[in-house]
Amino acid sequence: MTELERLAESTLPPADEVAALYPVTVNPTPADDSVHAQALEELKFGTTFGDYMGYAKWTEDEGWHDRAVVPYGPIPLEPSAAVLHYGQEIFEGMKAYRWQDGSVWTFRPGFNAARFNHSAWRMGMPQIDVKDFLGAIVQTVRADERWVPSSEDSSLYLRPFMIASEPFLGVRSAAEYLYLMISTPVGPYFKGGLKPVKIWVETEYHRAAPGGTGTAKTGGNYANSLLPQSLAAKKGYAQVCYLDAATNSHLEELGGMNIFVVHADGSVQTPALDGTILEGGTRGAIIQLLADRNVTVEETPIALADLIADIRLGEVVELFACGTAAVITPIGEIAGEGFTVAVPGGDLTLSIREELSGIQRGILPDRHHWMYQLI
Ligand SMILES: *Cc1c(COP(=O)(O)O)cnc(C)c1O
Repeated sequence: MTELERLAESTLPPADEVAALYPVTVNPTPADDSVHAQALEELKFGTTFGDYMGYAKWTEDEGWHDRAVVPYGPIPLEPSAAVLHYGQEIFEGMKAYRWQDGSVWTFRPGFNAARFNHSAWRMGMPQIDVKDFLGAIVQTVRADERWVPSSEDSSLYLRPFMIASEPFLGVRSAAEYLYLMISTPVGPYFKGGLKPVKIWVETEYHRAAPGGTGTAKTGGNYANSLLPQSLAAKKGYAQVCYLDAATNSHLEELGGMNIFVVHADGSVQTPALDGTILEGGTRGAIIQLLADRNVTVEETPIALADLIADIRLGEVVELFACGTAAVITPIGEIAGEGFTVAVPGGDLTLSIREELSGIQRGILPDRHHWMYQLI
């Protein structure tokens, strides 16, 4: 079991208790009903935000303080704020799901809290208690309850993040930080629903390198991925798959999703966490759900050359990508410099997606106690 998975097993404090840490300042000008109705109709990822945001500040003297849920809006930041120069920023991606009985739940927040603190550690930023991390989430979702959609495959996407706010241009870890938590109602991640996506395997650019920041969920990793992502998009590919920087030969992950390989004999592989891959909570949950089906996922280096050969031989039949935003998405084609291979596809991708979504939406039993009630 990984360190993050171990930390994720700790019992979480009750939602009422952590929410009470964040007093709410009522928003006098919430989005009007027509804007709200249109946003919930369109569900375009990351375009409309809730009426509220969670807020806390950290200084060396006081630690985390000034916790509040305040109206969503611009934050005062000096042009010299460290985050704007050296990129000390970390984030998480989570979802609030509305169940059929109207209650609202999130998935494994303890895992996200643990990963947030891992990212903070790597980026030289302060740790945050689980109760402070979670309190902003619970209280903001409660204040923004009308933004949690109830249509199929929809949710309120949650974006807790931390930035270095100290006005200082020296190169060192900042002495002041803000923790913020914003939300946006979302439908399915990829346009066109559950169509298999085409992936470009990148051999010129890398996402992460040994000893670098690949295991931290930090904006810089994404900034680094935007050029290759747009080059791939121009060629007609939805996402980029990165190879390891040391040998340029083994699969790592997509820009924001982990990857799984399904063999014709039913065995499943995923790239081993080698210190450059971001450890996904979805990845861990899939490994557990497959273990429950007596399928042991082999976490191992996966050579691109072997993968291409195995797909051509019919030994590999399914590839899928996974992450909170897209849940599980089948990959229908991989291509790169000098090759294009169609992936046949099969039942496992869809059945594991159904199972995970079913748990998240309260339709299937939550055997592993992954769900946490917000409302
Ligand atoms: C967030 C992220 C993932 C997926 O993590 P989940 O916890 O499953 O959402 C995978 N790779 C990268 C690079 C990420 O930033």
